[in-house]
This record gives sequence, C-alpha cells and structure tokens, in this order.
Amino acid sequence: MIDDLPARAATLDADDPLAAFREQFITPPPAELLSYLDGNSLGRPLEATARLLDEFVREQWGGRLIRGWDEGWLEWPLTLGDRLGSIALGAGAGQTVIADSTTVLIYKLARAAVAARPGRRTVVLDTDNFPTDRYVIEGIAAECGLRLEWIETDPATGIRAEQVADVVDADTALVLFSHVAYRSGWLADVAEINRVAHAAGALTMWDLCHSAGSVPIALDEWGVDLAVGCTYKYLNGGPGAPAFAYLRRELQDELRQPIQGWMGHRASFEMGHGYEAAAGVRALLSGTPPILAMVPLHANLDMLAAAGIEAVRAKSLLLTGYVLDLADEWLAPHGVTVVSPRDPARRGGHVTLRRDGFKDFLQPLWDSGVIPDYRRPDGLRIGPAPLSTSFGEVCQGLALLRELLEKNPR
Ligand SMILES: *Cc1c(COP(=O)(O)O)cnc(C)c1O
Repeated sequence: MIDDLPARAATLDADDPLAAFREQFITPPPAELLSYLDGNSLGRPLEATARLLDEFVREQWGGRLIRGWDEGWLEWPLTLGDRLGSIALGAGAGQTVIADSTTVLIYKLARAAVAARPGRRTVVLDTDNFPTDRYVIEGIAAECGLRLEWIETDPATGIRAEQVADVVDADTALVLFSHVAYRSGWLADVAEINRVAHAAGALTMWDLCHSAGSVPIALDEWGVDLAVGCTYKYLNGGPGAPAFAYLRRELQDELRQPIQGWMGHRASFEMGHGYEAAAGVRALLSGTPPILAMVPLHANLDMLAAAGIEAVRAKSLLLTGYVLDLADEWLAPHGVTVVSPRDPARRGGHVTLRRDGFKDFLQPLWDSGVIPDYRRPDGLRIGPAPLSTSFGEVCQGLALLRELLEKNPR
C-alpha cells in the first residue's frame, strides 16, 4: 500500500532542518506563485539581495563612485571566487574567479587547454551536453583545425567512464562533460572519468552549471583541471549573473586564455605597452568585471555557507525522491515516464518527466502559478531548489499536473 502522499509532504516539511531558509526568499502571493519547480534554471531572489542591491547603488556606487574600485571591487572576482570555491566547489583559494558568462568562459578555458597540448588534435565531448558547450567546442575545433570525438549519451542517463575510456588516446587534448546532465539530471563520476582521461594524458574540463549549489563538489580532490559554471541556477545570482571559472593551480602558469584584456594584465593600471599576464587565476579575467551583477552572490553565499552543501544535498535527494514517488503514483497511470536516474548516487538535483504533448501543459501550469521547465522533446523538468522549495509545494505542483492529465487524456 502506498502511503498518503500529501500527508508525507507535511511530515517531510515538519522534519526539514532547512525549512527556515525558505523565509529568506522574496515570496509572491500564491496566485502568482504556487509551486516553483525550476530552481535548476533560475533560482529565486533573497530578501537580502534586494536590500544589498539597494545599498550597493546608494552607498557604494552612489557614494564611493570611482573610489570603489580601489576600495574592494577590483578584488571581488577573486575574493568571491575563493568563497564560492570553499563553500560549494571544494576548491582551495586562488583557483576560482567570477567573470563573464559560462559560454565565454568555456571558450576561454577550452581554447587555453587545446593550445597547451599542441601535439594532440582531438577534443572529446558528448552528444547530450548543453548546446552552448557543444557549439563553443565546435567553434574552437573549426578555429584550430581539431577533430571532435562525440560520445553518444543516452538522454535518460549520461556519460560513463567506460565510454570515455573507449575513445581517449594519445591524440586527446581535452575532454569536456557536464557534472549533472541538464536534461536527465545524471550525476557523472567525475573522479573516475578524470582518472581515465588523465591516464591518456588529456586535460579535463567540467561544466558545473547544474550542480553548483546543489550537489557537493570536490574539484581539488577529484583532480579536475578546468571547470566552469553559472551562478543564476542553484546559486540564485539572478538573470544573467556572471559565471565562474576554476583553473587548477598547477596549470596556471602553463595555460593562457585567449582574450588578453587589461584586467588580466600583470599591472592593469600602468596601461603599459604589450600584454603580460597577471600571476595566478587573475589572468583568466579580460575586461572590467561585472561588479553590480556580483552583488547578489554575497547574500547567496552567506546562506549556502549557513545551510551547508551536505545538508542541501540531503534535502535535494529527499525532494527528488518524493518527485519520483509522486510521478509513479499519480502521473505514470496517465502515460508519464521518468527519464532520470532513480539511483540516488547517480541523480543530480532535478527529475525529468516525459509524455507526448507536455508542451501544451506548460501554459496552463504557468497560469496557475506552477512553474516547471520544459525541454524538448516533451520533457518537463522538475527542479526543486532545496533552500527555497518545500515538499508541500512540490505536492501541490504535481497535483495540478495530475489534474491536467486527467482532463486531457491521450
Ligand atoms: C545553464 C547552462 C549554461 C548556460 O550558459 P550561459 O553562458 O550562462 O548562457 C551552460 N552550460 C550548462 C550545462 C548549463 O546548464
């Protein structure tokens, strides 16, 4: 016998050690937002974010004006990078910067990586990686005359070490994969895939967009060479918030990113002749850092540090486990299938459901304040963000989806 699923939500909420964090978010009335299930696409803002932005504009920007650069802003890409690294990425200081967008950082890091392995002419990637990752690497391959080795990944699962072992060899310069697959939510075994790639002499790069702030990451321990990710998904940085890049300390003197701007220069304000890269990870910067867009990160990192990434992961697994039970009990009878890993060890922070015609359900869901994410073909992604989502909210959202399914039989 299956237990009463709404009652289970109430129990899970009552037992949730992170429940109080929900009060820190800006919460619109239920008519507008009943159930937010898209934390994996755009995280919700904190009350503190509104306050910090206002303060920043009035006091720092408005009050300090150009002096602000010398009084701290210039260091933000590095100091915030270090904080993010220690709270969410398992990265020791001096290896992470906040800058640009994920897309641009993929270009900068991947271009640097292939240039550092001149005898090797192949980049390995998988067919189900996020489009921007694939497109940027295609562009680099065209630019540098490289060959692309595509691993066919199952869209319901994701990249496995055996598949990587089959294709890497002495010609592989770089492998690039996502830690959590954007479609299925597959959680890759980063350490094992790195071992396989490193045994062939390749550099490894990981896209952390769907894991940063949701799944514990241990970049240093896992031997990751390069990594990128965004801060507007589980890190709640806001639409268009800047991205982050990680470059392993041992590689910092060797790898040179291609966009040589004044902010990555050894002495930006000497305005001298000829580019000389700054020491360390600062050399990943190009132009003026997006300081205003980094303001929300301060609040979000404080919150994540207080909650702890392990506790976030524990709640995330309970949330996605609950989604799976609701899907099996309420939605499967209406032809809905789960296209995400059920094994908690291989499951990231979201679950994708599929049924023909799901596309037509998106608007009625949105109109009722239930907000999942739609991904072609016919996939509804359910991405509950552990710090802002309750079990009751998940229950209400999927109950509404069940109602729509009942009204629209196939
Ligand atoms: C969200 C996401 C991106 C986004 O890149 P932008 O440059 O911020 O648009 C890239 N890769 C993955 C895996 C993502 O999930």
